[in-house]
Amino acid sequence: MTNTEPITTTMPAMPTQQPSPTTPTSPATSTPKFSKHIILTTYPGQSGIEPVPLEWGAPDAKSRGPVVVSRSGNLVKRRNAIGAHGGSYSIYNALAIAAGDLDANFRPDFRNSEPTFNFPSQKAWADKTKIVSMDPYGHDIVNQFKEELEAGWDIRPTMAVTRANMKLAEIADDVKNGLLEVDGSILVDSSGEVRVTKVAAEPVWYLPGVAERFGVDEGTLRRTLFEHTGGSYPELITRPDLKIFLPPIGGLTVYIFGPPERIADENVKLALRIHDECNGSDVFQSDICTCRPYLAFGIREAIREAQNGGSGVVIYFRKEGRALGEVIKYLVYNARKRGGDTADKYFTRTENIAGVRDMRFQALMPDILHWLGIKKIDRMLSMSNMKYDAIVNSGIEIIERIPIPEEMIPSDSRVEIDAKINSGYFTTGKQISATELAQVQGRGWEKWEDIAH
Ligand SMILES: [Zn+2]
Repeated sequence: MTNTEPITTTMPAMPTQQPSPTTPTSPATSTPKFSKHIILTTYPGQSGIEPVPLEWGAPDAKSRGPVVVSRSGNLVKRRNAIGAHGGSYSIYNALAIAAGDLDANFRPDFRNSEPTFNFPSQKAWADKTKIVSMDPYGHDIVNQFKEELEAGWDIRPTMAVTRANMKLAEIADDVKNGLLEVDGSILVDSSGEVRVTKVAAEPVWYLPGVAERFGVDEGTLRRTLFEHTGGSYPELITRPDLKIFLPPIGGLTVYIFGPPERIADENVKLALRIHDECNGSDVFQSDICTCRPYLAFGIREAIREAQNGGSGVVIYFRKEGRALGEVIKYLVYNARKRGGDTADKYFTRTENIAGVRDMRFQALMPDILHWLGIKKIDRMLSMSNMKYDAIVNSGIEIIERIPIPEEMIPSDSRVEIDAKINSGYFTTGKQISATELAQVQGRGWEKWEDIAH
């Protein structure tokens, strides 16, 4: 054992103690940031180690128990989860504390932060096989664990529900071109202003369930996560009794068009797109792939379905560049453009640099669909066979699959879309032969070289 420091303090009793102050003290007057001894890890049965009870899949939030991940003060002994809040932003939280901008013992004031829509509880919330990668009660912490929060426990929401107006140039064009009609409620006006309910979720993994989805044993998953994150999170190894891990990865956002209560209603139609982040196209509209056009098409069809009395949903996952990241992505772009950018070599270029063609692992993706209470998808606005298989295998029916319309495919992205169709992506168009695939070529850099030299 690296540390056998006796545990001398316990968590605030609940609920008899007074709430702890919600205003952070200034760095100058705050207590030291850390205990004298560095607690590298903890062990089950160690003196004072007493995780707050947590039973994933229990029938309701209170019997399931709160996710307690804070190492703040004496909570380190009572944690029932590994990792830190904030997903990929957890490091920024640590930086803010290091810089002295944030008190390590800060407790948020959650007044008025509650959801703008109360999603009805679903059976899946209490099913430990249906939801393994998010906390199904993560949006309702303030309500479910009020007493604990008032007693000073550091429990944080891992989901939030809000509403917004959004405006997309493509939607304004659709109105202008007669493809969408202004209804004054969902599509507010001809400028393309749309009302939307949004749900953000950070990852909360139930490790036995995640391991099962990937077909590995829990020990292998834990060891691999430990080894290949630079030896981070040693409790993955030393605390097999802790089953929950908050990984430092991106989360997801649900965009809901029309009344949110319709999503789980099996009597109305649902149009849905699952979209994985592609910042270069989604935001900056680079034309090398079909991401932004397909996203805009998905939003248009989601609005249309909602206007027809159904529901439209777009779910946006932070999995940039097939979860390989932008550095890998740009290296691949270079290899493609310098090596003759043809569709038959599209995946090989990625495999040469990343070792695999895709790291998105759709196995965890359907969790959010089950959380929303989706039983069937009438119109699936995606061609991905991986997404389709993951959704159908999780028990949700897909009635119709809608490919991106031909006229929305930018010419330089034919390489991408044809390679994907050839590898199994759904199409209602023609299948391309291997010989034809080699003929599909992207734009070269000749013009650029002219500019550069
Ligand atoms: Zn893209």
